[in-house]
Amino acid sequence: SVYCASDDRYTRMQYRRCGASGLMLPAISLGLWHNFGDDTPHEVKRSICQTAFDHGITHFDLANNYGPRPGAAEAAFGEILRTDFAPYRDELVISTKAGYRMWPGPYGEWGSRKYLVSSCDASLKRMGLDYVDIFYSHRFDPDTPLEETMGALDYIVRSGRAHYAGISSYNSERTRQAVAILKDLGTPCVIHQPSYNMLNRWVERDGLKQTLQELGVGSIAFTPLAQGMLSTKYLNGIPEGSRASQGKSLAAGMISDRAIENIRKLNDIAAARGQTLAQMAIAWVLRDGGITTALIGASKPAQVVDCAGAVGNLDFTAAELAEIDRWADE
Ligand code: NDP
Repeated sequence: SVYCASDDRYTRMQYRRCGASGLMLPAISLGLWHNFGDDTPHEVKRSICQTAFDHGITHFDLANNYGPRPGAAEAAFGEILRTDFAPYRDELVISTKAGYRMWPGPYGEWGSRKYLVSSCDASLKRMGLDYVDIFYSHRFDPDTPLEETMGALDYIVRSGRAHYAGISSYNSERTRQAVAILKDLGTPCVIHQPSYNMLNRWVERDGLKQTLQELGVGSIAFTPLAQGMLSTKYLNGIPEGSRASQGKSLAAGMISDRAIENIRKLNDIAAARGQTLAQMAIAWVLRDGGITTALIGASKPAQVVDCAGAVGNLDFTAAELAEIDRWADE
């Protein structure tokens, strides 16, 4: 079937400036880490992406290794770009990354120029793209000079392979160094991608959130739903097909009785706000403007619709925030 994007796709989503850059990002972005590998039917992937774009989610986040079979998510998204999104390329922000193990040998991971540039080329080929909008160093490499890793990002942007450069999971101190090097090179660091949710607040403890605001670097928070824990799906056990049932990145052991107890309380707070728990978890990440966009994942289109609805209420009272802190500690 021929896809035609919904006419009202820009009416409900909010767009927020990414740091001090010219780039606007949707308040909610979609990541293709899970559910876009060889183990998911292509039609499901298509309908998740179509639903996202129909709801104003213009930003799709990938990495070289997303699968399973590393590279499969980029290949699937490349197919969707060809069949569905080709007329809309200029309306999309497509990101990819390199940093984790992608191929065997010493040049298949971390932060060398050798790895980053080759990986970027392979990602472009899998997606059938001339350029990505954002290219990231996926993790800090303690053994490669930061000048080399940032130099590779600068080269990737200058050579037209990417429009913008970003970094992921660098702590506050390394972020300051990376941002300074990129600034000297003339390619600004436009975005940082850290994990952040009500149950994982390292960006506050580390000072990263404050640092990014100070430096004018935008931010995209991954796992805002704590991989699905911050929803109602685990309140009555572990449903079949859920991420915790698959023994991948979310261990079933995380769904403890105490965790469920707390999630139930958080769900009550969300209900009083007229939101689903997933919506409140996203709103919480975005609450003070310190984070540009919440980067969700989804296994079905209905989850995307639910999450997109978070923009209906992004404000919290002090009492609500205090109540959340009572039940959502780290
Ligand atoms: P989330 O915390 O948003 O978890 C997504 C999961 O939550 C879904 O797969 C689904 O679980 C469940 N879910 C989503 N929406 C709903 C809803 N409305 N109601 C109930 N359950 C819901 O994020 P992810 O862990 O998927 O990560 C998001 C993205 O962040 C990744 O795709 C990737 O792009 C990026 N990321 C980046 C990393 C990095 O190092 N830079 C590391 C990890 C992720 P189920 O599948 O059980 O249905």
